Amino acid sequence: MDTDSLHELFTFKSIFEGLEDAVICHDLDQNISNWNPAAERLFGYTKKEMMGKTIFSLMSPEYHTEQEQMIKDLLQGGAVNHFYTVRRARTGKQIPVFLTLSPIRDKNENIIGVSQIVRNVTKEKETEQQQAVWSAIIEGSEDAVISKTLDGIIITWNKGAENIFGYTEKEAIGKHISLLIAPDRLAEEDRIIASIKRGEKVDHYQTVRIRKDGAELQVSLTVSPIRDGDGEIIGASKIARDITAYIQAEQALEKKAKQLLILNSIGKNISEKLDVNAILQKVTDATTNLTGAAFGAFFYNKVNSEGESYMLYTLSGVPREAFAEFPMPRNTAVFHATFSGEGVVRADDITKDPRYGKNDPHFGMPKGHLPVVSYLAVPVLSSSGTVIGGLFFGHPQPGVFLEEHEDMVVNVASQAAIALDNSKLFEEVSELSRKKDEFIALAAHELKTPLTSMSGFLQILQKNDLEGINKMFVEKSVRQLEKLTVLVNDLFDISKVQAGKLQFNFELFDLSLLIEEICETFKHSVPGREFITVLEPRLIVKGDKMRMEQVITNLVANAVKYAPGSPKIDITAAGKQNEIIVCVKDYGPGISRENQAYIFTQFYRVTNDEHHVSGLGLGLYITREIIKRHGGRIWVESEPGNGASFIFAVPQA
Ligand code: ADP
Repeated sequence: MDTDSLHELFTFKSIFEGLEDAVICHDLDQNISNWNPAAERLFGYTKKEMMGKTIFSLMSPEYHTEQEQMIKDLLQGGAVNHFYTVRRARTGKQIPVFLTLSPIRDKNENIIGVSQIVRNVTKEKETEQQQAVWSAIIEGSEDAVISKTLDGIIITWNKGAENIFGYTEKEAIGKHISLLIAPDRLAEEDRIIASIKRGEKVDHYQTVRIRKDGAELQVSLTVSPIRDGDGEIIGASKIARDITAYIQAEQALEKKAKQLLILNSIGKNISEKLDVNAILQKVTDATTNLTGAAFGAFFYNKVNSEGESYMLYTLSGVPREAFAEFPMPRNTAVFHATFSGEGVVRADDITKDPRYGKNDPHFGMPKGHLPVVSYLAVPVLSSSGTVIGGLFFGHPQPGVFLEEHEDMVVNVASQAAIALDNSKLFEEVSELSRKKDEFIALAAHELKTPLTSMSGFLQILQKNDLEGINKMFVEKSVRQLEKLTVLVNDLFDISKVQAGKLQFNFELFDLSLLIEEICETFKHSVPGREFITVLEPRLIVKGDKMRMEQVITNLVANAVKYAPGSPKIDITAAGKQNEIIVCVKDYGPGISRENQAYIFTQFYRVTNDEHHVSGLGLGLYITREIIKRHGGRIWVESEPGNGASFIFAVPQA
C-alpha cells in the first residue's frame, strides 16, 4: 500500500471513529464486520460484542424481511438507499432511525457487503409528533389562531380564523392584518405590535374586528411574540376569540336587571303616591324608558265633582308643546281598541294596519304630528273592569316594540290601575272629610250663639230668689248647659285646629299655681274623690294660660269620667332638664295597648264603656294639639286594670 492510500485509510478511519452517526458494516450474509463508537453509543453493544453477529440482532423480528429486501434491492440496483425504520438497542428500546445503505465493493467492483449509516431520529420524530399535535390543536380550535410577521403580514390562518372572520386560508395568507381592522382602530394594531417588539404579551384585549361580510365582531385578543432559534422576535401569534354572543348575553342581562329595577321602582313609587298627576307622570316616564319608545303618553279619563268626564294626559320623551296643537285622541278605529278595553295594539308599522287612516278629517296622523311608525297601546283597566285610560307609545322606526315590551307595559298598567283606584278613593275620602270639617265648623258656630243666650237667661233666673222645684230645675239646667258648652267648645276648637286657626296668647305664668287652682275647683265640684297634688313650686312656662287650663282640666276630668271607681287621683308636676313634666294618674280600668294608639286621634272613643259617659272623642286630640303648639309632647302610660297616667312635657321658661 502506498503512502497516499495509507493516509487515506487513516483519514477514513478517523472519520469513521469520530462520526456522530452510527456506522455498521456487514457482509452479504448480514454478519457485522465493522462497528464504530457511535454505534456503540446508540445500541449499547461494544464492537467486540458485535463483531461476527448478524445485523438482525439489532432489530425486532418484524423488520427482518425488510432488512433482507433492502439488501436485495441494493444488490440489484447498486445505488445508495435511504429510508426510515426502527432498530432495537441492547436495552430493548425501539429507536426510530434513518438509514443510509451503501454497497461495499471489492477491487473488481463486486458488491461484497453493505455499510449502514444509522441516524437516531428520535428527536426529529418527537418534534414532528409535537408539531402534529400542535397543528391538530390549532386546527381544531374554535378560536382564530393567526400568526403574522412584525410588518403585519399574515403567515398562518387556522380553521377557527376562517369560521370567525369568513376568509379562507388562501384568501388571508400574505395579506396585511389590517384586513380585519376598521380604519378607526388601526392605531390599536401599532400599539400591539410595539408591545410585541418589546417582547410583551398582550392578554385578553377586548376590541372590535370586521368580518369579510363587513359585520362587526366583539373579540378578545391574546397576542404573543414568536421568536426564532436565537430568541429574536420575528413575528406574533394571535388568538382571537369571538365574544360577541357573550357580550350580547351580558348586555341582555344588564338590560334585564335595569328593567327589573325600573319595574320595582315603579311599583314602589306609584303605590306610595296618591296624587293622580304624579302617578301618571311616573308611569309614563318609566314605561317610555322601558320600551325604548321615542315618546309615550298616558291618557286618563277623569270625572270631576260635577260628574263631567274629561281627560288628563302626561307625556314623556317630548315637550308638551309637541302635542299642544292636536286634539285629544278621538274615537278612531286605532284608538277604539284601546279605549274600549278590547286589548293591546302592537304594530311594527301602524300605517300599514288595516284600522289606520280610515277616519275623517286627517285620514292618519294629523299634519305636523310626531311621526309614529312603531306603535304600542295598552288599555288601563280599573279593578271593576272599566277602562280608565290608555298608555300609548310611538317610535319613528318600524319594529321597535317587542312582546317583552308589551308584557312589561301590561304589568305596569295593572299596577298603575291599582294606584289610580287608590288615589281616587283617597280623593273621595278627602272630599268627604273636607265636607265634614265644613259642617262641624258651621254647626259649632250656629250652636254657640243660642248657648250663649241660654246661659245669659239662666244666670238672670238664678239671680232671682228661686225656691223649691224651680231653683232645682234652674241649677240642673245650668249644669247641663255647662256640659253642652264643653261639647260645643270642643267642636268649635276642632274646626279651628283643622283650619289652622286655633289662636294662642303666650305669656309667662306659674304652672304649679294653675294646677293647684284647677284641683281646688275639682275638689269642690266632685265630692267623694281625693285629688292629691305633689307640685314643685314655681314652674314657669311661656304659654297660653287658658289653653293650658283646658289641657289640665281635660285630663283631670277624663280621670274623673273614665275612672269612676278610682278613689284618688294623683296630680304631680316637676321640672326636669329644662322641661316641666306633669302627670295625671288615676286608679281606674286603664286603657288597652291597642286603644292607646288611637285615643289621641279625632273622634276616637273606647266603645266598651260600661257606663255611658258623654263625649265626642275630641278632648285628647285638642289637648295634644295645644301641647304641640307649646313645643311639648304628651303620652299615656297604662296597664289595663291598673289605672292610667297621662303625662305631658312642656319647655320650662
Ligand atoms: P272625650 O272628649 O269623648 O272624653 P277624649 O279624647 O278625651 O274623648 O278621650 C278619648 C277616649 O280615651 C275616651 O273615649 C276614653 O275611652 C279614653 N280615656 C281618656 N282618658 C281615660 C282614662 N283616664 N281612663 C280610661 N280611659 C280614658
